[in-house]
Formats: sequence, structure tokens, C-alpha cells
Amino acid sequence: MISRNFRIVALATVGTILVAACGASVASNGDVPEAGSASASAKKVNLEDLGSELRAARPESINPPSSEGGLPPVLRSIKTDDKVVFITIDDGGTADPKVTEIIRKTGIPVTPFMTENVTRSNKAYFKEISEMTGQIVQNHTVDHPQMPTLSLAGQEKQLCQASKNYAEWFGANPWMVRPPYGEFNDTTREASKACGLSYVVLWNVSLPAAFLRYAQGDKLKPGDIILTHWRPDLYKHLPRALKDIKRQGFKVAALQDYLPAPV
Ligand SMILES: [Zn+2]
Repeated sequence: MISRNFRIVALATVGTILVAACGASVASNGDVPEAGSASASAKKVNLEDLGSELRAARPESINPPSSEGGLPPVLRSIKTDDKVVFITIDDGGTADPKVTEIIRKTGIPVTPFMTENVTRSNKAYFKEISEMTGQIVQNHTVDHPQMPTLSLAGQEKQLCQASKNYAEWFGANPWMVRPPYGEFNDTTREASKACGLSYVVLWNVSLPAAFLRYAQGDKLKPGDIILTHWRPDLYKHLPRALKDIKRQGFKVAALQDYLPAPV
């Protein structure tokens, strides 16, 4: 029996992670990407083969974290013995068909945390991404504000409106929230609860450019949550990151398999 208990990482133990700026609204067109195009020295890779080696099986059993004092838990990683990591992609200002092709060819699950005001103009793109991967679009607010600067009513508006629209646009209610810049307070958790959001999901690894950046240490650990953004250069950097994940002996699992919607 494999134990898959979850760990809620105390905020005080976690270092600062730089967050790449939100992507500008640039749509890219062009050739179907080949992994390694970020560098002339990088070897090309077959994305289908890479994906088949990277896709994790569904977990045999899970034990999602429960609420803390009635409020959603805050997670920077998932407590698991499985040698898996999770890829989350934020904002939504860039709708790049080259990224779609990478996700399609590899078949890797990615969790979209979408900002409504930029997703609004790219609804068809993200609907396709969600349907292709089976991953539900999750909540990253309406306007990408610094949530602690807002009142409870202001934070609820940011979260409830985004969830309501995503249910309409993408066919499912979000149940995870990522506060912009990773900034939140207890009011954010109260607003999340009020809007039906059960998990505040942060990250402990980021992909700000070509290489993975770790909050602690210099390599992946089971349950790491990787943050990147829908940005114009993601098509270059995502295959490189996938190759790095494979090199480190990890697979990519679906976050919603480990943090399912509460029943
Ligand atoms: Zn963001």
C-alpha cells in the first residue's frame, strides 16, 4: 500500500519565488514546434515519444488535504510518494498554436489558471486546451490584482465572477484558485470559500524562461508544482523543461487527479 498523504507547507518555510511578469497579449503563428528550438545546441526530440515517457498513470489512491479552520488549505506542493510533478500555466494573454501542438503531441496534462480579462478574448483557444487535456480551467481572478489590497467584497468579486464565467465558457466550475503573484491573506481564503474554491494553489518551482527555477534546492522533488505562463516564448521553453523533467526521472501528473473537486 502506497501512502499518499498530503503536505501543507507552512508559509514560513517557503522561500520567495520570482514570478515572471504576466504575458502580453501576443498570438503567435508559425511552424509546428520542435523541442529544443530554444537553442541551436539543443537536440531535437520527438514530442510523441517524450510524452509517452512523461505521462503519469492516474494515482491509485489519494488523500486530499482538508480545510484548515474551515478555510481552504494553501498548497505549494503536493505530498506524495509518487515521482510526479505538476505543470500549471497562468494568465492567458497569449494563445499560441505552437503550444497547443506541444501539448497535443506529448499528451501531458497542464492545469490552466486563467485571468478572466485576458482569457475573455482567447476563449476558444483555452476551451480547446481544456477539452484536449481534460483539465478544468481554474481561477486566477478577473483582473490579476494584488488580492491583499482588496476588501472581502472586492476579493469575492474577483473570484466569484471569474468562476461564474469559466463555468459558462468552459463547462465546469473551478475549485482551485491561484492568487496573482502568490499574494494572499486570510480574506483571500474566506473569499475563496465563498466562491466555491477549495484549494489555494501556489507553487515551489517556476519556469520563468528556459530553465526550471527551484524555491529550495536544485532539483525536482515528488509533488512539486511548477508555475509557468501562457507567454510568447513558452513554445521554446516548455519542451526543454519536459526534457529536464524526464532527465530527472519524473513524470507529469494531472493536478486535478491529486486535488479533485470536492463532492
Ligand atoms: Zn498571474
